[in-house]
Amino acid sequence: MFEKILIANRGEIALRVIRAAREMGIKSVAVHSTADADAMHVRLADESVCIGPAPSSESYLKISAVISACEITGAQAVHPGYGFLSENAGFAQALEDHGITFIGPKAEHIRIMGDKITAKETAKSLGIPCVPGSDGGVPDVDAAKAVAKTIGYPVIIKATAGGGGRGMKVAKSEAELEIAFRTARSEAKAAFGNDEVYIEKYLQKPRHIEIQVFGDGRGNAVHLGERDCSLQRRHQKVFEEAPGPVITPAMRAEIGEVCAGAMRKLQYIGAGTIEFLYEDGKFYFIEMNTRLQVEHPVTEFIFGVDLVREQIRVAAGLPMSFGQSDLEINGHAIEVRINAEKLPNFSPCPGKVKTFHAPGGLGVRMDSALYSGYSIPPYYDSLIGKLIVHGRDRPEALARLNRALSELVVDGVDSTIPLFDALLNEPDIQNGEYNIHWLEKWLAAQFA
Ligand code: ADP
Repeated sequence: MFEKILIANRGEIALRVIRAAREMGIKSVAVHSTADADAMHVRLADESVCIGPAPSSESYLKISAVISACEITGAQAVHPGYGFLSENAGFAQALEDHGITFIGPKAEHIRIMGDKITAKETAKSLGIPCVPGSDGGVPDVDAAKAVAKTIGYPVIIKATAGGGGRGMKVAKSEAELEIAFRTARSEAKAAFGNDEVYIEKYLQKPRHIEIQVFGDGRGNAVHLGERDCSLQRRHQKVFEEAPGPVITPAMRAEIGEVCAGAMRKLQYIGAGTIEFLYEDGKFYFIEMNTRLQVEHPVTEFIFGVDLVREQIRVAAGLPMSFGQSDLEINGHAIEVRINAEKLPNFSPCPGKVKTFHAPGGLGVRMDSALYSGYSIPPYYDSLIGKLIVHGRDRPEALARLNRALSELVVDGVDSTIPLFDALLNEPDIQNGEYNIHWLEKWLAAQFA
């Protein structure tokens, strides 16, 4: 086992990894920008290294600085968290070249799931069902029209290099296609420096269902069921739950086995998430994330496993501590993402947190790097905490979420807490009746 690992991240996910490491008797090294000198992850880690100025391109994203920090501290492995360098194949490769273990999949697997067209091709070749669409990139409007004609309108034009819900445009008819195509292309170019786009059938009322997979890198792999992440704003998740309200045990076993089987074929190592849109009983692959997800705690709650501990174990060459038959669902879990954002526009509002009080009690988990007196810097993501609850069933989890939200205090900055208070009063949320468009429609009606 490693004696010391470095966490190439910040915020709640850095804490998450430091906690797992400490429980395993592994020393942790935090890296931070100058803007994060007072951050909680720096305080909680055994050691810390400043790796650059505030902009992430000069610190958290700077591969050479992270590697130097490993060399200075003698860290033997790096956990990348999510975001930043977590899905950067070049980073995984650079670590390997320096004899440092990347706590994540092989560079090759990050690459084949990296850009969305390659990911779809890989998925297809592994027998994973995909959304009907173009075979690869679409070079011009005429080609786009031809594809749209065969799959039928509406269609969605997506950036090959897309991520974070950006670079997607819907066209309901041929009349809308030309402008949608051109806008998607120029947005893709501006956001990702790559203007390649592809086309998919636009599903009208799907749910976002994702399967958690885990492999040992030697051909053993399991699935840990699904998460329903359909409540989204601007294609970004805000509320996630497991198990999914509409997924039956038979459906779970079937799609789960397709995914686990695919990971066995790849000899995939570590945690991964295969994302699908689900409509009318069918699953359609959209992408795979070759890392730990923000919403992994709901899965941890219902299966009683520690996914980060498991990631560290397999990276160190140990076997997984569970097999498929050990994994049984216990109850229901829900996560809400607390962002430092002002409603109704969700504009980021960094600043000083006067008081922070985390809820507690049975079945409540608060993953947050906040503390009273902390100043949220303006340079990074606005996620300031995740509140996760577990109950024996969905109604109990909802009641517990309501209770936990009533205890949570974040004073001094605006946050998305009131959004969840309001959502819990909605019959559709109480009944689990929502799809990927529900939240946008509800927000439009609330703040019209
Ligand atoms: P990103 O990597 O930017 O998050 P994804 O491909 O994962 O992009 O898609 C994000 C979200 O966009 C999905 O969860 C869904 O809400 C919506 N979306 C993507 N593809 C389609 C599609 N073919 N039909 C309808 N909605 C889609």
